[in-house]
Amino acid sequence: MLVLNVSCEPLQLMGVQRAVRLVLGGKVEVIETGHGHLHSERYTLAQPVVIRLQRYVHVPYHAPACTRKGVLLRDKYACQYCGATPGAHLLTLDHIVPRALGGRSTWENLVTACRPCNSRKANKPLNVARMSLRSAPVQPSRAHMMQELLGRHPTWRKYISV
Ligand SMILES: [Zn+2]
Repeated sequence: MLVLNVSCEPLQLMGVQRAVRLVLGGKVEVIETGHGHLHSERYTLAQPVVIRLQRYVHVPYHAPACTRKGVLLRDKYACQYCGATPGAHLLTLDHIVPRALGGRSTWENLVTACRPCNSRKANKPLNVARMSLRSAPVQPSRAHMMQELLGRHPTWRKYISV
């Protein structure tokens, strides 16, 4: 279920149970419903797919945990050194500042690398390896995460550019 803020900006995805409580509590407006219905002893409700809050809510943004899949997605499955796209199973994660030199596993220090580039860089810092990145690695923003999520559901896609 997609939750929009008052301004119609996509805010987050929410589980059905929690969303239904908000709908029944009159705290949200149902913008779109799906085909199914939700039943309980007390009510029958057209399944909400998109709901909109009645008043503005500031939701602090917590960046998602940095995972292999997340880094590959952010980098669009392309080696950040040479641009190769050999497929997920042939890609590795490279620590820009090597772990041996105190580099950590964060969004800003991990990039997608093909195997040849990873072994060429090995445990060296960028300048020693004489390699450069095609783009600076960043932590995914809320807008970026929402785009990824919204793309999964046809009903939600039209809210991507809101
Ligand atoms: Zn490469």
